Amino acid sequence: MDISLWDAFLSLLYPLQCPLCRTLLPADHPAGFCAPCLLELPAFHQDEMSLSILESTDLFATVYAGSSRRLVQRLKYEAQPWVGRSMGRLMARRYQSRDLGPGPNLVVSVPLHPSRYRHRGYNQAEILAKEFAKQMGFQMHGQILQRIRATPHQVGLSQDNRQKNLLKAFRASTECVGMRILLVDDVATTGATLKACSEALLEKGAREITGYTWAKGLLRSSGT
Ligand SMILES: [Zn+2]
Repeated sequence: MDISLWDAFLSLLYPLQCPLCRTLLPADHPAGFCAPCLLELPAFHQDEMSLSILESTDLFATVYAGSSRRLVQRLKYEAQPWVGRSMGRLMARRYQSRDLGPGPNLVVSVPLHPSRYRHRGYNQAEILAKEFAKQMGFQMHGQILQRIRATPHQVGLSQDNRQKNLLKAFRASTECVGMRILLVDDVATTGATLKACSEALLEKGAREITGYTWAKGLLRSSGT
């Protein structure tokens, strides 16, 4: 079955719903959220915080608060991977609304350690990245980056300790040589996870890494 037929089949089985109010949306709805609910997800304005985690300017679709935060909790801890489809779609729409020049060669999601993957059954960052890449027509690579060390949750750790916690936690493959990569995760707070992934990719020869997360968290929130 070709991919568009398969997509059509899936959308019959799982029609697109606004995750906040459950209104049914057309399968090609660009934002993935109905108009009133979209108002609950204000865009992150880059000038609100001067934090640039990686060397390039990082991107965040929303602020980690209210409905945006609640969606992450549902996606990560309440076994509702379907909400990620709308979240990835909104990430694409917000990406398109900015003038960002040539897109990445590859979209890569922050990986989970296999033990956490088995426990959750899916990688929430991968769900966001897949929908985002599909909407944007960007290529995605699921195997280029691996998490080789299971690390404790970052919540409650200081910036320094978050970084130490992630030391040598990721390994990249040489397929990233010369690539401009957009690295996707759910939430960035201090950016320690994005930084650790970026270092692993640059070490193997990636040309440029930009981070893009669903939300920008404030310190003490549950992102990394
Ligand atoms: Zn809605």
